[in-house]
Amino acid sequence: MAENAALPLPQPTALSRPFWDACRRGELIVQRCRACGHYIFIPEPVCANCFSADLEWVPSNGRGTLYSYTVVWRPQQPAFPVPYIVAIIEMEEGWYPLTNLIECAPEDVRIGMPVKVQFQPVSEEITLPMFRPV
Ligand code: ZN
Repeated sequence: MAENAALPLPQPTALSRPFWDACRRGELIVQRCRACGHYIFIPEPVCANCFSADLEWVPSNGRGTLYSYTVVWRPQQPAFPVPYIVAIIEMEEGWYPLTNLIECAPEDVRIGMPVKVQFQPVSEEITLPMFRPV
């Protein structure tokens, strides 16, 4: 486990706790609207597409392609080792998590590259879903 006490970590809420519990088990899940099929990320109480509150958690296959990214050299918190890559992934299911791309040098990053989830435990409670090239 990469312990770094200075790192700011997500604070699970009643709404987001199923997501973080799944990450800790090594599973990636996402909300989906039972009424219209729309995927929802980050977790919300209602569907952003049709406003239905009939949402469910469904498994993701953890695979996608790099949709957009930036390389951070000057972090907002000095606890973050630089450089690191902030990325938006286009998941195969059609949702777009904001995450980190790891195990990839900044000069090797390409839009559209295939990636898969890789879970990174950072505390007893929190495991972050990051992505790496495949
Ligand atoms: Zn909907």
